[in-house]
Amino acid sequence: MLGYGKIAYVNLTDKRVEIADVDEELAFKYIGGRGWAAYIIFKNIDEIIHGTHPSNILIVATGPLDATIFKGGSKTTFAAISPQTGIYGDSNVGGYLGSMMRKAGIDAVVIKGASQEPCYLLIEDERVEIEAAENLWGLHSKDADKKLREIHGDCSIATIGIAGEKLVNFACVNVDWDLRIRRHGQAGRTGMGAVMGSKKLKAIVAKGDKEVRVADPERLANIAERLKDQITGSKLYESWEKYGTMSTIEWSNKAEALPTKNFQYTKFDDAEKFGGEAIHRLKEYTSGCANCIMPCGHTISVGEDHVTVDYENIAMLGPNLGLSDLDAIAKANYLCDYYGLDTISTGSVIAFVMECFQRGILDEERVGFEIKWGDAEAVYKLIKFIAERKGFGTLMALGVRELSRCIGEGSERFAMQVKGLEISAYDHRAAPAMALSYATCDIGAHHNRSWAITYDVEVGRDNYGEDKASKVIYLQHIRPLFDMLGVCRFPWVELKVDPNLYAEAYSAIVGREFSLEDLLICSERVWNLTRVIAILRNKIDVKDDSLPARDFEDPIPEGDTKGFRIDKEKFMNLLRSYYKLRGWNDQGWPTEEKLLELGLEEAAEKLYG
Ligand code: SF4
Repeated sequence: MLGYGKIAYVNLTDKRVEIADVDEELAFKYIGGRGWAAYIIFKNIDEIIHGTHPSNILIVATGPLDATIFKGGSKTTFAAISPQTGIYGDSNVGGYLGSMMRKAGIDAVVIKGASQEPCYLLIEDERVEIEAAENLWGLHSKDADKKLREIHGDCSIATIGIAGEKLVNFACVNVDWDLRIRRHGQAGRTGMGAVMGSKKLKAIVAKGDKEVRVADPERLANIAERLKDQITGSKLYESWEKYGTMSTIEWSNKAEALPTKNFQYTKFDDAEKFGGEAIHRLKEYTSGCANCIMPCGHTISVGEDHVTVDYENIAMLGPNLGLSDLDAIAKANYLCDYYGLDTISTGSVIAFVMECFQRGILDEERVGFEIKWGDAEAVYKLIKFIAERKGFGTLMALGVRELSRCIGEGSERFAMQVKGLEISAYDHRAAPAMALSYATCDIGAHHNRSWAITYDVEVGRDNYGEDKASKVIYLQHIRPLFDMLGVCRFPWVELKVDPNLYAEAYSAIVGREFSLEDLLICSERVWNLTRVIAILRNKIDVKDDSLPARDFEDPIPEGDTKGFRIDKEKFMNLLRSYYKLRGWNDQGWPTEEKLLELGLEEAAEKLYG
């Protein structure tokens, strides 16, 4: 099919690989990336026992816009049932992985079973080989990446670190470690590193240089030119080039949304020490993902090495832990990458432990050493303990929800998570739309599905109007659409590029006409499908679309938003509006009519049949 490559089905238990064409249903109803992942997981839902069981299925999928002349960046989705939340989980990463996969003729790899011995996958020339990796097991991501690069030359590499091998619930996957030109990134959220570890899969190597065949190259060239003009002509381009996502530190601090000391406070006095300006002054180089003309990988040195920083990492490992020294924050970030841990979840778990110390719930005797806000040495030690599952790190490796259940003593009220996933770096007590985004996000609390806080700032911090529910739904459809298409959302989010260009490009690539509205229906279909998966697996409903007790009970203690907290009654009304607008019932289940309207007959049958 024009515009698409093949899908590789790999069974690691019996070492079988089958290569298949993409069929019309997958292509035009689910597009690619997370759309394919949701479909495949749903189809196999009854077989999957839990996140780190061999029955789990890991899908690594890129999308149809990647590796074409449409320079929208390269993105790949890692998806499976999450070991951390028990429901559908996915995480999206840049680098060169997706592009190399597409140029090797493989759009997605669907990995079943588990190997007895350590292995890695080599994707090349429309083939996938299972290779031995005994010599890589036990290595940190960076070292495994280096060894593989020595063997395979110009390629893209996804590796897990020690945390993935030890099945830490929030282990990440590193892609393309520190190559200077190529952006180093992580599929951080929902524990995809642990899923790889459970399959004894240390790495995925992709190597390709073939052109992707598209239906209408001339039309695509014209659209690509318009995209380029909109990116480089944007008045926001210069500031993006200078700061990337890092200027969000200053924005968030000013908006009083910067998580500080486990979301107790919303601003931090020393924020300028690690914000956009500071990083701009100190950065050694900027790297980009494949197919990107607006690179944002700002990279600073850590000792003799480097780390590529983003807003989320710095916020969760900086102010949220009471750390202001950029060197210390960068080192914590580096260690998370090195061991293969998600920075957001790691920052949240450590902050939770620090607050337990602050409140006298934990002490030196229980944890092994004293832990205070802003203690960098303790942070480094805890990161290592978590990754290696040593001492108290064994409990921390479960994530904040399970950890708070083990500790008890009322600590659950400040365990900052939704559905088992740690909340990312925006305090939302004065931001009802952002709060709704977190409460309803399909993988647990993650900002990238619906970054609605700018809308809260625009239309009112104490406004719980129905428009906020509509806005969240729109964002939950359009933002994940980029993950389905295999491209970066930043040109649209940050530089205000016309999203219709993406639909035009898709149409030119596959040779069938799709409007943006058509694609948004595909994204809505996927959103409903991941909800059905959550219902079938964990009986997720209205009780789970909620927030930590802190959000309802602890008012913001200072600043212009002093006194704000989430009003429970108004929040429940907003949630009811959200369900109604989505076509879901009061319990938060998609109605049968809604599922049928979206062409999800099998899902309707499973829920209501
Ligand atoms: Fe990658 Fe940044 Fe470019 Fe997006 S804008 S493709 S994240 S380098």
